[in-house]
Amino acid sequence: MSAPFFQMSLIVQKYGGTSVGNPERIRNVARRIVETQDQGHGVVAVVSAMSGVTDSLIKLAREVSPHPEEREMDVLLATGEQTTMALTAMAINAMGRKAVSLTGAQAGIVTDGVHTRAKIADLTPKQLKHHLDEGCICIVAGFQGETKDKRITTLGRGGSDLTAIAVAAAVKADLCQIYTDVDGVYTCDPRVVPTAKKIAVISFDEMLEMASSGSKVMQSRSVEFAKKFGVTFEVRSSFNNNPGTIVKEETKSMEAVVVRGVSIEKNQAKVTVRAVPDKPGVAARVFTAVADAGIIIDMIVQNVAHDGTTDISFTLNKDELPKVETTLGPVAKEIGAKAVEIQGDIGKISIIGVGMRSHSGVAAKMFEALSKAGINIVMISTSEIKTAVIVDEAKLTAGANVVHEAFGLGR
Ligand code: ADP
Ligand code: ASP
Ligand code: MG
Repeated sequence: MSAPFFQMSLIVQKYGGTSVGNPERIRNVARRIVETQDQGHGVVAVVSAMSGVTDSLIKLAREVSPHPEEREMDVLLATGEQTTMALTAMAINAMGRKAVSLTGAQAGIVTDGVHTRAKIADLTPKQLKHHLDEGCICIVAGFQGETKDKRITTLGRGGSDLTAIAVAAAVKADLCQIYTDVDGVYTCDPRVVPTAKKIAVISFDEMLEMASSGSKVMQSRSVEFAKKFGVTFEVRSSFNNNPGTIVKEETKSMEAVVVRGVSIEKNQAKVTVRAVPDKPGVAARVFTAVADAGIIIDMIVQNVAHDGTTDISFTLNKDELPKVETTLGPVAKEIGAKAVEIQGDIGKISIIGVGMRSHSGVAAKMFEALSKAGINIVMISTSEIKTAVIVDEAKLTAGANVVHEAFGLGR
């Protein structure tokens, strides 16, 4: 019987790269984990690679090969988190407590075979439970798993968040805490909008929209997972004891706030297929080619036709551009388009809030604020709880600040 495991309260904590950025910070994290255990909880701590390590491993790979195989990239990148897990366990053991480190595979994380952005397919926390039952603190390497046929995989950038949420769901944790270098989720990235305020409570959907439109404080896939499995979690700082932000299921009262937050996304580009014949099947041809090439796109706009032709534009992350150039050239020729034009140096500003469902005039207020600041809107898209605009990249920070101010989100 493994009764003790189920009887004690269990906390899953995740410590991000900055929080474990040097030996002193790792000792700080170790102290926090020990304090949590002292309060009578079982603790599983998921750790990221020390800040900068994943980026330098990627750089290192590029220095030995122009196109490293994704399988080997995953083997390499997984070492970042493994360094941290061992150091954290050592630091805890040096404090006279019992900690063991576990890789993603040892923690039971089974993924699909999509290297560098694998999805978690299954999580059987057998070893975790065993060590917890023995009173051990478990330190799990974030961001990694293993396929059924034992290949090491990673879960996409920021993937330690996903590890933490998935482990919390699997062990049925009483609490899941995401420790980072800010006090919580703010109304906008506080490094972009200095007057941004900490949000006390936010719904899964709002957090998901913020994360997927550029608020990288949480990995968007981790929020999706949390929503799917109903894992309420808290985002808070590893550098103080301030209460953080609770991310949870939406409640009725949340609709009273029209705009919960503002996100910005840099590194965007706009592709325009110029003067395509205005007839059925043309858009399908363009976007089938784009999809077949595995290109991830964001907004799409088709303009009004003149002289029997029209322009089709879409936006995407700049990193996708090389694929676009090789894919759309031949397609443009085939459908008789005039040209494929690319505009870089654009970015996206989004406002997010479940209250948008029941309030009108929200988009107008955003556009007015931008216009007053002399910021031109290149493209617009809306969804039920989000309005997003594309603007000149150089105007992103100014735009985020005026929009934030217009909705009275600041301190
Ligand atoms: P970690 O290494 O702990 O995972 P990240 O760097 O991934 O930390 O995420 C924390 C960072 O997210 C903050 O330092 C902040 O600059 C950025 N950020 C972006 N949007 C927001 C937001 N709305 N609220 C708080 N932080 C945000
Ligand atoms: N180390 C990985 C990254 O930098 C995963 C993470 O920190 O969450 O993306
Ligand atoms: Mg992160």
